[in-house]
Amino acid sequence: MSTACKHPKVRVVSRDEDSEYVECLDCGEVFESGEFRDMQIEERQAEEQEEETA
Ligand SMILES: [Zn+2]
Repeated sequence: MSTACKHPKVRVVSRDEDSEYVECLDCGEVFESGEFRDMQIEERQAEEQEEETA
């Protein structure tokens, strides 16, 4: 099993018009900061489902 890194520390490595890429200082993974936000938000979705547009 691989360790689930929550990427607690990240730094911006590159930026483009509408995306920003960050590198995790813990595991070294590089990803879009947009994805990173999704990951964090995922934990809350259960509570916030009511806000979905109907
Ligand atoms: Zn990480």
